[in-house]
Amino acid sequence: MAERTTVFTLSTGPVDAYPEVLAGISRPVRYDFDPLYLAEYERIVERARVALGTAAAPVILQGEPVLGLEAGAASLIAADDVVLNLASGVYGKGFGYWAARYAKEVTEIAVPYNEAISPETVRTKLAERPDVTIVSVCHHDTPSGTLNPIDEIGAVVAEHGALLIVDAVSSWGGMPTSPDACHAALYITGPNKCLGGTPGLTILAVSEAAWEKMAANPAAPRASILSILDWKDAHKADRPFPFTPSVAEMNGLDAALALYLEEGPEKVWARHALTAAACRAGIKAMGLSLWAAREAIASPTCTAVAVPDGVSADALLTEAQMRYGVVFSKGRKETDGKLVRIGHMGTTARPLYATLAVTAFGGALNALGHTVDVGAGVAAALSVIDAAP
Ligand SMILES: *Cc1c(COP(=O)(O)O)cnc(C)c1O
Repeated sequence: MAERTTVFTLSTGPVDAYPEVLAGISRPVRYDFDPLYLAEYERIVERARVALGTAAAPVILQGEPVLGLEAGAASLIAADDVVLNLASGVYGKGFGYWAARYAKEVTEIAVPYNEAISPETVRTKLAERPDVTIVSVCHHDTPSGTLNPIDEIGAVVAEHGALLIVDAVSSWGGMPTSPDACHAALYITGPNKCLGGTPGLTILAVSEAAWEKMAANPAAPRASILSILDWKDAHKADRPFPFTPSVAEMNGLDAALALYLEEGPEKVWARHALTAAACRAGIKAMGLSLWAAREAIASPTCTAVAVPDGVSADALLTEAQMRYGVVFSKGRKETDGKLVRIGHMGTTARPLYATLAVTAFGGALNALGHTVDVGAGVAAALSVIDAAP
């Protein structure tokens, strides 16, 4: 137990990228004005459009998804907008701070960080506040491992006539979700979570209404890394790029999208769901508790486990890595120290990884003197896997 080694990265992002993605990144780096590269870029954006299951070409912003979130706030929210921010975790709460920089007012629905936002409370709030023009929500608030029902929330927001900003960074590609299904104006995601890619790009779906709103917003950034408008139609081979695209990252994204589409999104989602179900069964069979208030809101891309009383989350993480070379994710901000997260994303959304996760988690707890029955945990995980069709 002398050295820290990393053998299995079961994180909630960035994730261990697929070998094909790494091979993609090693493709030749082309000059961005090379007509052959322009055509290549257009082809990759088209592949992203197909993967998103939407009609309009997405924008690829050249920085990891926080760029997309911040650019979305800066571009869509004008000085006369009232934003309703939905906060059920660290990311949802955090978006409200960006929104406050640009909006006339930010009002919020906040729930405990092991809970989800109900569409009914959104409906009630919007009835009280008919002046709300933009609603923001995080689909899977990763530091809690919990999901918000964005399709139902999106329907309520659409009925009200407001625009919806969705952070789908750690859900898209790992479960059935799309910009159209939740009526998103801006739908922000990226390659470095469920797609098994690397952190370096934002995939951004923009609705027609959002393009109009951004174009009419005098404060929307132009000639800036935060400008979404500058990238409109940048994928068209007859347009110049606003600045140099991250060519190598784009090549990696291309490979990740190819894997996703070749395997078939439904199959990809099914293995995320099965891995999570097996993992949860194992965790519960060891007498441990999920962080989520109800299993129904637990994400299929992450299992957040409440750290038992008297155990230190950091000690558990250290033990899992030192003994077994297994890396889990820690909590963030309000959830730091209270939970440990097991990622089921991309490469690690393979059912047998559930048994690995349960073994390392339980073994680490035993080493810390919190005795659990690892065998019962593994057996429970395996029985879920074996019962799958
Ligand atoms: C990973 C993630 C992002 C990207 O942000 P980082 O903090 O830079 O990793 C944004 N939103 C959610 C929900 C994420 O899980």
